Amino acid sequence: MGMFLLAAAAAAASCTGVSEPVIDVHLHSYEHDGRFEARVPNPGDGRPMSALDGRAQASGTVAALRSAGVVRGIVGGEHRASDDRMIALDPDRLRGGFAIDNVPTPAELAEMRSRHAAGKLAMIGEVAYQYNGIRHDDPRLEPLWALAEELQVPIAVHSGAGPSGIVYQGSPQHRERFGNPSSLEEVLVRHPRMKLIIMHAGWPFLDDTVALLHAYPQVYVDLGAVDWIEPRPGFDHYLQQLMTYGFGKRILFGSDQMVWPEGIAQAIARFRTAPYLSPAERRDILFNNAVRLFGWTDLTSCGTPGRKR
Ligand SMILES: [Zn+2]
Repeated sequence: MGMFLLAAAAAAASCTGVSEPVIDVHLHSYEHDGRFEARVPNPGDGRPMSALDGRAQASGTVAALRSAGVVRGIVGGEHRASDDRMIALDPDRLRGGFAIDNVPTPAELAEMRSRHAAGKLAMIGEVAYQYNGIRHDDPRLEPLWALAEELQVPIAVHSGAGPSGIVYQGSPQHRERFGNPSSLEEVLVRHPRMKLIIMHAGWPFLDDTVALLHAYPQVYVDLGAVDWIEPRPGFDHYLQQLMTYGFGKRILFGSDQMVWPEGIAQAIARFRTAPYLSPAERRDILFNNAVRLFGWTDLTSCGTPGRKR
């Protein structure tokens, strides 16, 4: 009880003045990315790119988080240096993930351990080996699952669709079917205490995602990128089905803004304007579910009117 009061008293500064708080578990940072040079327009609305390099993307992302009432975000990728640079811009608001896009190396596993020991590892992910043609059930991933379970840090795995045409645009090993979350089942059997987040909610493999959520009550999902890039009716259908099957307590908000900071507000808007969500369901998805999964007691009084901080 004393601990709880202490935590509530030390509420995060990022909550100040925010009535409808949001937590974004799916953010990226970049050193270099070909999309900056190519000036790729926003894939959601077709508008011209606004952040033209990694530094502008970092400051633009922080500004977008602040203005959208995102009181906490997890940055995972593509490099620790760019993650750290973004986190340094707003360390109260941002926490560190740990991106991996292949079989984990011993050096990466050791770095995860040392970051965890230093209190700098909120999540492992985005784990995106699918882009390199690696399946969820590849035995070489075993040390990664074991570490996530041992450290009790949520691990967020890219599962589902990559960008349309990705196999011809730099990821020749990518296979869409490898994103089917059903092949995470044996991993969950072997590691029952692992805290798994299925990124992109396994989109478009809805049935297999529902099956996994049903059978494994510890599994969470986010709808990153689907929530601002895919056509709205498809997003609504997918989210509504997840709600219909009763998984409203295990959906997290993630934007997956990539090189377009404005994607954050666009993604939040879709949840705020979804007529099939009650206010309580919306708050669970945008905020409560992540507070519970990550154990962020400094955020528990966030958005509560009349609460002195
Ligand atoms: Zn992804």
